[in-house]
Amino acid sequence: MSDSTNLSELHWLQAIVQSIDVGVVVLDRVYRVDVWNTFMENRSGRLPEDAHKKSFFELFPEVDEQWFRRKVENVATLGTPSSTIWEQRPYLLRFKNYQPITGLEDFMYQNTTLLPLKGLNGSIEQICLIIYDVTDVATNRRQLQAANQELQRLSSTDRLTGLFNRGHWEEMLRQDYARHRRYDSNAALVMFDIDHFKKINDKYGHQAGDAVIQQTANLIRQSMRGADVAGRYGGEEFVVLLPDTDSQGAVMFAERLRQSSEAYEVSHENHRIRFTISFGIADLSLPTSGYAQLIERADSALYASKSAGRNRVTLYQ
Ligand code: GH3
Ligand code: MG
Ligand code: MG
Repeated sequence: MSDSTNLSELHWLQAIVQSIDVGVVVLDRVYRVDVWNTFMENRSGRLPEDAHKKSFFELFPEVDEQWFRRKVENVATLGTPSSTIWEQRPYLLRFKNYQPITGLEDFMYQNTTLLPLKGLNGSIEQICLIIYDVTDVATNRRQLQAANQELQRLSSTDRLTGLFNRGHWEEMLRQDYARHRRYDSNAALVMFDIDHFKKINDKYGHQAGDAVIQQTANLIRQSMRGADVAGRYGGEEFVVLLPDTDSQGAVMFAERLRQSSEAYEVSHENHRIRFTISFGIADLSLPTSGYAQLIERADSALYASKSAGRNRVTLYQ
């Protein structure tokens, strides 16, 4: 290749480097700027002549110097490129993000690549830093993750009470049951149903009934511990799984909830509504064939509470 070809190539190569929509910085081996393209000028607000031969670390005090030096030294020693993606480090240089997306970070997410540049004698004399603006990709990914999380939450909770819905609660029970089997630990299931709920609906209206269901969920939240798993099983029917709890502990839990609901008054449109709850309990101290059997037993104990006059707690024996 002749010298003139080299020179004309240099000319259009420069034009490309200047106009390309990625940041290009060339550093000498003591971290001073040799090349600074238009992207860098626009994003940093610094003219090439102001950046030229300035220390990279003085220009960008936000850069973790130790980390960056180690990275560059590796590239120079091995003679191979190295990249950092935004998932590892959201950005190398703190540039403002001008894309107005509300509720998201105001910095530019970046992927960066370091390239070793060989001099005429074949040794690596400079390092080229390429900066890609990946704000679009990163914010889309983040929004998608947030939306998925919200979707997951919505599909697992009951709208009226905020407790787990039946499907999700049963899935939790299935997992916990397997765990208790494996470790041979105990767990108790408390199933309960508001007494004469039809009368509440008939007397005060469906909205009032909804308020009673909501307040019952609040009472449940107040009496349960962090590891307990509560769900709305049906209309005015609830379930709470108490891990590592025996029947005695479960009876205490249910009795406390029974008394607090008996003492509670729901205020709804000038009405003061009183209600009671019946409970059924089963635990894993009896041989159990599966989690479905645990539900059946708690349900049959609940039925016994109803038959015996309601507003009481029955343990499956
Ligand atoms: P028992 O003491 O035997 O439980 O009597 P009950 O009247 O509570 O009987 P049952 O459990 O059969 O009745 C439940 C009623 O709850 C029937 C249904 O109309 C009502 N219901 C179910 N879901 C909702 C709801 O989301 N909101 C309201 N307000 N009522 C509901
Ligand atoms: Mg009922
Ligand atoms: Mg019912």
